[in-house]
Amino acid sequence: MTRLVLVGPPGAGKGTQATALSEKLGISHISTGELFRAHIGNETELGKRVKQYLDGGDLVPDEITNKMVAERLAEPDSDNGFLLDGFPRNVGQAEMLSKVLAESDKKLDAVVQLQVDEDVVVERLLARGRADDNEEVIRNRQQVYRAETAPLLDYYRDILVTVDGVGGVDEITNRVLSALRDRT
Ligand code: ADP
Repeated sequence: MTRLVLVGPPGAGKGTQATALSEKLGISHISTGELFRAHIGNETELGKRVKQYLDGGDLVPDEITNKMVAERLAEPDSDNGFLLDGFPRNVGQAEMLSKVLAESDKKLDAVVQLQVDEDVVVERLLARGRADDNEEVIRNRQQVYRAETAPLLDYYRDILVTVDGVGGVDEITNRVLSALRDRT
C-alpha cells in the first residue's frame, strides 16, 4: 500500500503524472484542484465559496480545503493507498494531513517533487489555456507556490523524492516509479 504526495509548481505536470502513477500503482488519485473545479462546475455551495480563489490563483482557505480533503480520505477507496495531487500546499495543510493519518496509525510513504524551471512551466500553462491560465493569474500562482508550498520541501525532507519533470510523459512516470523503488 502506498500513500504519496506529489508536489511541484503549477504547470509541472502533476495532474498528468498523478493520473499515470495512480493507475500503475493501483491507488486513488485525489486532486484538490479537480475537486474544486467539479464543485464550481456543479454550482455547489462549496463551489460558490471557492470560485474567487481559483479565479485569482490564490489558495482556498485551509478550513475549506482541509475539510474537503479529510472527507475524501475517509472514503473507503483511500484505504488501498492514495496519491494526493495539489495537497498539501502549505505547512498548515501538511500538519492536518499528518494528524488525520495518525488517527488511523498511518503515515505518508513519500513526497514526490516534480522539478521544472519556472520559465518552462509558465510556457506550458500559457499553452494549456485553462480558465486560470492567463499571465497575471499564472504569475500569482507561481508566487503562491514559492511562498507557501516550497517550504514543504524542507518540512518533508526525510521522505522527499526529487524527480526531473522535463521530458516525455512516460519517461517522467518511469523516473518517478524507479525513484520510489530505489528508496525501499
Ligand atoms: P495548478 O497546479 O496548475 O495550480 P491545481 O488544479 O492543482 O492547478 O490548482 C488550481 C487552484 O485550485 C489553485 O490555484 C488554488 O486556487 C486551488 N487549490 C488547489 N489545491 C489547493 C489546496 N491544497 N489549498 C488551497 N487551494 C488549492
